[in-house]
Amino acid sequence: MAKQKKFILQESEIPTQWYNILADMPNKPLPPIHPATKQPLTWQDLAHIFPEECSKQELDMEHTWIDIPEEVLEKYKFYRSTPLVRAYELEKAIGTPAHIYFKNESTNPLGSHKINSALAQCYYCKQEGTTNVTTETGAGQWGAALAYAAKTFGLEAAVYQVKISMQQKPYRSSIMRTFGAAVTGSPSMSTRAGKDILTVNPTHSGSLGTAISEAVELAQTTPHCKYVLGSVLNHVALHQTIIGLEAEKQMQLAGEYPDTVIACFGGGSNFGGIAFPFMRHNLKDGKHTEFIAAEPNSCPKLTRGKFQYDFGDEAGYTPLLPMYTLGHQFKPANIHAGGLRYHGAGMIVSQLIKDKMMHGVDIPQLESFEAGMLFARTEGIIPAPESCHAIAATIREAKKCIETGEEKVILFNLSGHGLIDMTAYDQYINGDLQNYTISDEEIQKNVSELEQIV
Ligand SMILES: *Cc1c(COP(=O)(O)O)cnc(C)c1O
Repeated sequence: MAKQKKFILQESEIPTQWYNILADMPNKPLPPIHPATKQPLTWQDLAHIFPEECSKQELDMEHTWIDIPEEVLEKYKFYRSTPLVRAYELEKAIGTPAHIYFKNESTNPLGSHKINSALAQCYYCKQEGTTNVTTETGAGQWGAALAYAAKTFGLEAAVYQVKISMQQKPYRSSIMRTFGAAVTGSPSMSTRAGKDILTVNPTHSGSLGTAISEAVELAQTTPHCKYVLGSVLNHVALHQTIIGLEAEKQMQLAGEYPDTVIACFGGGSNFGGIAFPFMRHNLKDGKHTEFIAAEPNSCPKLTRGKFQYDFGDEAGYTPLLPMYTLGHQFKPANIHAGGLRYHGAGMIVSQLIKDKMMHGVDIPQLESFEAGMLFARTEGIIPAPESCHAIAATIREAKKCIETGEEKVILFNLSGHGLIDMTAYDQYINGDLQNYTISDEEIQKNVSELEQIV
């Protein structure tokens, strides 16, 4: 019999609930706290800037399953289920006995997993009478997804895009504008936070931290405007669990169960999305799946950061979150994986790392592109520079199996395609890319400034 390569679900088999791992975690994350009062935040506090329903989801430790609203499910059906694919050609090229599967979240027209949460957040905004949404974006995948989702639910979107990414990936701004969003490079002169940052450093090339500061400020100073975030927060990972819940059913169709689950890591949303539904079986059913988050070694918060309360943004406008962090003032090198240039990790993942239920690996930029090239040439899909980190981590694991002879089942999430990142591939092919490492002193300097915060 011919080997089956691709596993898809019928519309009626698409999951109708998200999985809330907070309800199942033996040790809950510490609460987010108010920077001034140092008191734990309530959902009402969060609802000043975030949609109300998302604020409730953020702190929900009680409900294991959360219904996906009917209107969101309808939109999911435009592009879901996404395929689960056995990477036979990649396996052959590596020469590994491992079985490699990937969940392909690049197949929707926006090109990444970000749309899964953008639709949910814009739906809740609409329900709650919000007319405007504002956000930040790095490489632009989140901004593009949000611009489309906002248009779908009749909201106006204002997006602050990290300046360096805007220059590296001009087409993502075009996509956002096509969907009707207003796009501003960050840091900009349009907000107090942006002006302050530019006063100190007039040539600041921007970071997710600067863009978040500007977007939060705009939400706070504009009526009927909410701030929405594409990663890091618990409710974003919650919406992304649709990835892992589908993959669980699809792995059943393939007749296998993953020994290892891998995703790249910016703030943790695509990682949480694919990993948490499988981690549930470690927590509940005695499974022993290993979970690996692949971060760039130029922004190594999981492997070299400190567990500490820190701000989510550069200017210090957000609540203080308990997380593995490099310090909110950390300026990551200008690697092409813009979506991974963030100083901290989400609260859930940070607690899971503390509890040794998962771990991080750090991948140098050149190794990530080498992996992406091999994947493109074997499986015919050009991966996003972010996703290349997951592929590199997968290849490392698959190579270990050559030595041990183990037929390990490895599942990784292909978080997006790289068709708008071809400048990066050109530079790699021309030999113009480099690795960036950061010194312990540099990390120590940023992190030691945090100790006074709490
Ligand atoms: C944003 C992004 C990431 C990183 O964000 P997470 O929240 O960690 O998933 C990874 N891959 C792609 C394609 C992205 O757009």
